[in-house]
Amino acid sequence: MLSVSEAHERILAVFSPVETQTVSLNRAAGRVLARDIKAKTDLPLFDNSSVDGFALHAVDCASPRTLKVVADIRAGSTTSKPLQPGECARIMTGASLPPGTEAVVMVEDTDFSVRAPGTPAPQVVTIHKAIQPGENIRRAGDNLHTGDMVLSAGMHLRAQEIGLLAMLGEAEVQVHRQPRLALLSSGDELLPVETPLTPGKIHESNSYTLAALAEEAGVELIRLGVADDSEVDIRSRLDQAVEVKADVIVSSAGVSVGAFDYVKSVIEEDGELDFWKVNMRPGKPLAFGRYRGVPFIGLPGNPVSAFVGFEVFVRPALEKLSGLEVQPRPHQVACLVEPLESDGRESYLRAVVSQENGRLMARLTGDQGSGNILSLVQANALLIVPSGVKSLPANSDIDIWLIA
Ligand code: AMP
Ligand code: MG
Repeated sequence: MLSVSEAHERILAVFSPVETQTVSLNRAAGRVLARDIKAKTDLPLFDNSSVDGFALHAVDCASPRTLKVVADIRAGSTTSKPLQPGECARIMTGASLPPGTEAVVMVEDTDFSVRAPGTPAPQVVTIHKAIQPGENIRRAGDNLHTGDMVLSAGMHLRAQEIGLLAMLGEAEVQVHRQPRLALLSSGDELLPVETPLTPGKIHESNSYTLAALAEEAGVELIRLGVADDSEVDIRSRLDQAVEVKADVIVSSAGVSVGAFDYVKSVIEEDGELDFWKVNMRPGKPLAFGRYRGVPFIGLPGNPVSAFVGFEVFVRPALEKLSGLEVQPRPHQVACLVEPLESDGRESYLRAVVSQENGRLMARLTGDQGSGNILSLVQANALLIVPSGVKSLPANSDIDIWLIA
């Protein structure tokens, strides 16, 4: 049986980043940048005030004094008239400094501090304290210079990157398109959540869990629905994925050794099955291959196994498809509160991890059966028991992945 890391490697090897497209900046959040961005401008763009106050000449910074107010500079306006000794200009936060400004005094440090919005500038103002040269001034290029490399291809664009791109005047950005993930469930026992149950049936849930995970990971989702346990139905739904040019097909169930596990046999007949068992728990029956050329990941049917299989194999595949640089998932180390038993397979157990006296402490969330999704609902982490380990005493250190 393949180890988790071998399976991981074989899966990642078949994926490469999807093509790129240009999108307007307001559609770019969550996407993956496809080319490096160099700053087209300095930031700040020009010398400006970081407070509402009065711009001072160098000779007038040293001690408290009364000055003549010769200009009123709002944000968005400029003046070219240089300040002379004994003169100052009222200035608003973000407004361009008049030439000759050495520092800005906050309005709170003057006799003009408590004013309603719209109050005109005074004729004279008294400054209460000495100001350091440069105080309350943001210089052009303080944060970055034209030509600086600011963002690199393969980055996930978060809110702050979008904000930076806007500040740099990038109205459109080159990103990777969203990978198309086709999602299939299978099983005669499965009814849609809105359909009343009949004896022996259960509500289909994996497509909801997996769709939520996939959409969070930034894919365009194609729902192939729920196939009966029949080769004909499974095949016709997989054909839809091929027609819409899915980048990857993800299914759940039907890849084990049950008498009606037809998903695997369809892949064997109409595609190529690379492997279908991985030495892990939960999630041993996990199939990987291609269906008519489209990469196929067949997750197990049990709800916890499907979730774990997604986290371990599908998420990194989606990262690679998206154009992200795939890094090993960050893990932390926690301390086991209670002893733990495993069966020697690489195990992903559900736990609550909390900070106690400066240490991360991990407690299993009860019944670890692969059908018990409550064990995941109550969890904020997966504990990773390495293969070959059958038991761990209390107080052992263990690797964990935090889960959203
Ligand atoms: P199978 O892989 O078909 O043997 O399914 C294993 C277990 O997972 C069975 O208990 C199924 O009823 C359950 N199962 C399979 N698919 C789903 C699904 N989409 N939603 C909820 N449970 C499922
Ligand atoms: Mg089944």
